[in-house]
Amino acid sequence: MAPGETAGPSSWGRYPHVDQRALALAWASDPLPEGTEPLLPYGLGRSYGDVCLNPDGPVLLTRELRRFLAFDTQAGVLRCEAGCTLGEVAELTLPHRWFPPVVPGTRFVTVGGAVANDVHGKNHHRAGTFGRHVRALELLRGDGTRVVCGPSANTDLFRATVGGLGLTGLITWVELQLASVMGPWMEVEAVPFSGLDRFAELTATSDQTHAYTVAWVDGLARGTALGRGIFFRGNHAEGGGDLPAPRLRLSVPFDAPDALLSAPLIRAFNAVYRHWPRGGTKRLSTWKFLHPLDAVGNWNRLYGSRGLLQHQSVVPGPEAVQELLATAADSGQGSFLTVLKTFSDVPSPGLLSFPRPGWTLALDFPGRGAPTFALLEKLDGVVRAHGGRVYPAKDARMSVDTFRAGYPEWRAFAAHVDARFSSGFWRRVRGEL
Ligand SMILES: Cc1cc2nc3c(=O)[nH]c(=O)nc-3n(C[C@H](O)[C@H](O)[C@H](O)COP(=O)(O)OP(=O)(O)OC[C@H]3O[C@@H](n4cnc5c(N)ncnc54)[C@H](O)[C@@H]3O)c2cc1C
Repeated sequence: MAPGETAGPSSWGRYPHVDQRALALAWASDPLPEGTEPLLPYGLGRSYGDVCLNPDGPVLLTRELRRFLAFDTQAGVLRCEAGCTLGEVAELTLPHRWFPPVVPGTRFVTVGGAVANDVHGKNHHRAGTFGRHVRALELLRGDGTRVVCGPSANTDLFRATVGGLGLTGLITWVELQLASVMGPWMEVEAVPFSGLDRFAELTATSDQTHAYTVAWVDGLARGTALGRGIFFRGNHAEGGGDLPAPRLRLSVPFDAPDALLSAPLIRAFNAVYRHWPRGGTKRLSTWKFLHPLDAVGNWNRLYGSRGLLQHQSVVPGPEAVQELLATAADSGQGSFLTVLKTFSDVPSPGLLSFPRPGWTLALDFPGRGAPTFALLEKLDGVVRAHGGRVYPAKDARMSVDTFRAGYPEWRAFAAHVDARFSSGFWRRVRGEL
């Protein structure tokens, strides 16, 4: 290892296991390391698979680039370095009644990572993706040049960088339009539903009345129970005083034995979820509603040493979702946590942005070797047959064909990939260019 380098971190799913080195960046003005070896920016590694991995090469840790550069509290415009997390942004801006316009299911993601995966949240039906709210960003290219791009400057490079998986260069800072909110609390409601038809009704009505909507689906239900779940909807609430700091309730200190996530435990977890307290509207902190899993530190360790593989796809509608759920349930491998949401027709700005109009389903499987990969391949087949796509941020194994079928703009994107940047994901899916 060269001076300043350490052993590299892993991704959230902890699959694949790779050897990579890490180099921490201290200042946004620092040049890239010299040489020709391919590099890859790394935020907090909350991507599940290999978009944040650079096997046998170095990753550039961005987390020290966490300075707030400017905050206009009247207009809600924030400029910050790319290693700031969305949680840190919210803590700074909520007292001024501004909030990140889009947040994923965890607050532990960096702003750079949120741009590079063009992340979506429970408010996609209104806000679209994160990249839509970026006013400008600075990109450090492999040849050492710095390019400011945005919706009206260097737009081709901007469209390649939003959802560009860290392959167009290092984002050093981002200027973001925040969303105006009434206060730091949320009014939320949980409504059980019996199947996908009822989910469709609930989402159609709730998307009109609620800023955030999402559903948990019972991943083990079969037959007439297939597609049952609980629908969650929420709005920012008025008043209510200061928000308590987000709390870490417990942390998983070591890898669970591989047998822990056995079928009976998955069944028990899904049964507990099914009996989630409901009835009426509740007032919850923003953290609790938008990032419930953050209460348990390192929960990915529950999946044991063989890791966790998530399959998130977007497909046109209920028929495909029904087929995906049935394929998973019939495999006997049962998804631990299954999440369903609809994407609206708000356009995504990036060439490789994942969201498009349709239904998005996320399924979590403990890594069990060949049977898990066979199931994931089958799920890809269903997605391809319905003209859908698989989310790179959650992926560790999709084929070149699945990638190209899902992302027809891949060739236009490839033209913008900086020769100095690469990742395990890109080397796997790009095929012959
Ligand atoms: C519990 C949980 C819930 C989640 N929920 C959602 C969700 O609801 N919606 C959703 O869309 N995603 C979701 N995700 C995925 C997560 O939001 C994305 O993977 C996010 O991009 C991770 O950000 P990060 O900072 O950890 O980036 P990393 O995972 O470290 O990197 C992600 C990508 O960004 C690139 N990158 C990072 N920083 C920079 C930079 N400064 N310049 C250029 N490229 C950079 C990397 O090279 C890599 O390609 C969830 C993840 C978890 C663990």
